Amino acid sequence: MKLLNKIRSFSFSKPDHLAYISPTEEITYGELWRHSEQIAAFLLQENFDRHLPIIVYGHMDASMIESFLGCVKAGFSYIPVDVSIPIERIGKILTSSQAELIINTTKEELVLDDFTVTILNYENLLAEPFLHQEVDPANWVTGGENFYIIYTSGSTGNPKGVQISAHNLQSFVDWMVEDFPLKGNLRFLNQAPYSFDLSVMDLYPALASGGTIFAITKEMIARPKLLFEALAKSKTGVWTSTPSFVQMCLMDPSFTDELLPELRVFLFCGEILPVSICRQLKERFPKAQIFNTYGPTEATVAVTSIEVTDEILESCQNLPIGRPKGDTRILIVDENDAAVQPGEKGEMIIVGPSVSKGYLGEQELTDKSFFLIHGEQAYRTGDAAYMDEQGIIFYKGRIDFQIKLHGYRMELEEIEHYITNCQYVKSAAVIPIYQNEKIEYLLAAIIPENHEFEKEYQLTNAIKKELKEVIPAYMIPRKFSYYKELPMTSNGKMDRKKFREMVVQ
Ligand code: AMP
Repeated sequence: MKLLNKIRSFSFSKPDHLAYISPTEEITYGELWRHSEQIAAFLLQENFDRHLPIIVYGHMDASMIESFLGCVKAGFSYIPVDVSIPIERIGKILTSSQAELIINTTKEELVLDDFTVTILNYENLLAEPFLHQEVDPANWVTGGENFYIIYTSGSTGNPKGVQISAHNLQSFVDWMVEDFPLKGNLRFLNQAPYSFDLSVMDLYPALASGGTIFAITKEMIARPKLLFEALAKSKTGVWTSTPSFVQMCLMDPSFTDELLPELRVFLFCGEILPVSICRQLKERFPKAQIFNTYGPTEATVAVTSIEVTDEILESCQNLPIGRPKGDTRILIVDENDAAVQPGEKGEMIIVGPSVSKGYLGEQELTDKSFFLIHGEQAYRTGDAAYMDEQGIIFYKGRIDFQIKLHGYRMELEEIEHYITNCQYVKSAAVIPIYQNEKIEYLLAAIIPENHEFEKEYQLTNAIKKELKEVIPAYMIPRKFSYYKELPMTSNGKMDRKKFREMVVQ
């Protein structure tokens, strides 16, 4: 695979060049290659079933990247699982993926009592005597074989595993390296944990261009002082994040090009990029270019892009998501799948080589969203958009109950499923509360079961405690309110429109 060959060639041509920097360690291209060789050699030696993916568990550490590369060099796909994912949910991922192996890159023990799974400790893997022979590249993951599988929120309560092949990833990386100003040993900021595909936007383009990844941790994000100290030392040249994250940084007046004098490129993806954010960035970083990119995990990170120039900022109230990458087409269709006219709104269908083969082990779900158009893989996005006469696409929201909150993708139905499963809840609905066209927080509207709590906040705490066991913290609604009944539609479903009118007054 071209990407792996590139990393390999850097490990020979500049072995001492830094590949990865995190708060706890720095590793060079030479070390990255050697450590991942060692992991691959171990996996091959043990004869594990190569059809099954390997879960790599941890946070922002070089050991994660070494393990990813170790897996794919031995012919295994990997599932990145961040430490923020509760054990219950890891159980669901194990069941769905049938993974039999976990590489734990953390220092803490990972306990999964109800599963027959082998947990390999990263440190023990590296302590194995080093096999000096290189792993034969014939073992590497290639073509349509899965490179990674990323789990995203699913409306039924089970996360969905999006399978991304070596071919899908290569198409994405080629586009990034060729069409964006990313060449020349740049430092890439890595904000997103590896279980989100936004992280792929910095990881592999950085490694394919001989750059250095600068990872920031959840501890830094929780403590802005630490974050800003780290940023000041980071020499960041390429900034990749959600708009929500940069918005948080912009609240600090010291977030300027004095803090980050080498910053030349902002890459945004994952949610609507507001004009106001770009205006502030242009003022504070006059030398940097800003790109808005769009795409779902199902089409490998991003498939459209546009540079947000002064001219665009002046002429657009809502920023466009741009044009598709060269090897990809975006069709905009009506309910009957007929192409709409320029300017007319419809659903986006992505067609091209970075579109996934589907959800792991979920044929029915896959058939709903993935299909072939003249032999090319296509994905029905659930995103509404229109295209102008120049072929520039403008995003117009979702056509279902998937949302983005603070950059995180989630299905309202999945959250409702887990709230309704709580012992104190009879039925529930989750309503996004908007401010300036952006979701500010989620409100859980609940009809409670009979309970013994005196105060509502005690009931809320008890429900939240149960939720923490099953869904990540970012999916738990900020506000809870209790009702005797909720408005229903004639087919017995919660009437969200009516309910929103009731609460947002
Ligand atoms: P994810 O799979 O987490 O990357 O989320 C994909 C979804 O995020 C898309 O289907 C869109 O709804 C939304 N999204 C991604 N990029 C953008 C963007 N630039 N502008 C608006 N929405 C976006």
